[in-house]
Amino acid sequence: MRVLSVASEVFPLVKTGGLADVAGALPRALAAEDVEMRVMLPGYRDVLGALGGTKVVKRYKSLFGAEARLIAGSAGGLDLIVLDAPKLFDRPGNPYLGPDGADWPDNWQRFAALCRAAADIGEGAVEAFVPDVVHCHDWQAGLTPAYLRHAGRKAAKSVATIHNIAFQGRFPASIFASLGLPPEAWAVEGVEYYGGVGFLKAGLHYADAITTVSPTYAEEICTPAGGMGLDGLLRARRSVLSGIVNGIDAAVWDPTTDPHLAANYTATTLPRRALNKRAVEEAFGLARDDGFLFCVVSRLGWQKGMDILGACIDGLVARGARLAVLGSGEAAIEGMFRAAVARHPGRVGIVTGYSEPLSHLLQGGSDSVLVPSRFEPCGLTQFYGLRYGCVPLVSQVGGLADTVIDANLAALDRGVATGLQFLPVEAPALDRAIGRAVDLHRDAKAWRKLQQNGMKSDLSWTASARRYADLYRSLLG
Ligand code: ADP
Repeated sequence: MRVLSVASEVFPLVKTGGLADVAGALPRALAAEDVEMRVMLPGYRDVLGALGGTKVVKRYKSLFGAEARLIAGSAGGLDLIVLDAPKLFDRPGNPYLGPDGADWPDNWQRFAALCRAAADIGEGAVEAFVPDVVHCHDWQAGLTPAYLRHAGRKAAKSVATIHNIAFQGRFPASIFASLGLPPEAWAVEGVEYYGGVGFLKAGLHYADAITTVSPTYAEEICTPAGGMGLDGLLRARRSVLSGIVNGIDAAVWDPTTDPHLAANYTATTLPRRALNKRAVEEAFGLARDDGFLFCVVSRLGWQKGMDILGACIDGLVARGARLAVLGSGEAAIEGMFRAAVARHPGRVGIVTGYSEPLSHLLQGGSDSVLVPSRFEPCGLTQFYGLRYGCVPLVSQVGGLADTVIDANLAALDRGVATGLQFLPVEAPALDRAIGRAVDLHRDAKAWRKLQQNGMKSDLSWTASARRYADLYRSLLG
């Protein structure tokens, strides 16, 4: 079976969040299921620079006003089909935002072009790779199922996956005429979304199957609070919606071999983590201390509940714990953390920006990773925490609810707990959970058990890849 996976970012080539990790990991995991997956992505400058073994497989004189080519090649260990359209994608930096931090004004053309070309492949335009299924990730790939459905000839089946329903790709109605869709697509039963064009909405309406990245999130997005405007459509399509949790790349995230750690370790050499703690203290300007160290590795934004954490920092420090924050995002939240650093020098530290090495080191040296998200489709940081013996303390929402076993009395009693959960996602509940963690840590044996349980959890892609493969097969009948 052949599957074209269409994504706007893919690890290790371009990444702003969890989508990249998933898009990068799925092809290898699916190979074990006899699925040949190729990833299609835009020809950003960095991607073209890394691409090897290239072959031009299709040319466009004008694709949304840009001269374009489809190039097959490989990079980062992945077989790719890259949409090379310099006018649209040959830009440095973030894939979605200009240097001013605002969305590129031509984002609708950039990603409509990606979708149009992906649908062409789904219709058999590239002889060397005719997919049975086109798997479309997030709004950037959302128009692909619409094009496939209106193809007027036999085309691949489509799957739309929601990694985060907050990002919907909503554009003014005026762009519809330029999309090359038939007039009947301008309808509620089509791409129309609250008077404009909705890329994600289109994907959810036209796709043969919809998935999201955890069973709990699949439930949450069917509610008015979680669906962010799309819950009605999702309720109507409930029968084709399912939740499949992400796995992690166990080769990249392995504390026994991780080159970013000061000291590698296993579940039976946990004391070696102290050397990583020393390195974290160094990098985050923290006082040397064997006491409890919390960390955060996150985008700094409302979704991630960072303001809620902000309200708990004084209490965290009063309990004798420390906090190291690695994040990038909203200036106001960064300012909030900087103020906490000023109030608690040596107890709270922040490094802003994106750092893959520091994200590994924090998991290898901290006692607990905090993930107080207001909503979290799946989340990856808690998986890395589990794998690294960095006990996740998470809000009980979305994928966090599905993947962490709270250290309540019953779970502790049965020796199955892997972390801590709290609800509601408000400061008093988080504050209590922080207290619970610090208290539990005083019992060294109980804490070690938590760490070891987490490290034993099966976080690989194996089971999830099977579920995707089953889904693709079910579409082909
Ligand atoms: P989201 O995709 O919503 O940002 P996830 O938890 O699914 O959240 O994925 C976040 C990914 O990005 C994880 O791999 C995490 O380690 C990484 N990450 C987030 N912020 C940073 C940062 N400042 N530096 C390095 N890695 C980061």
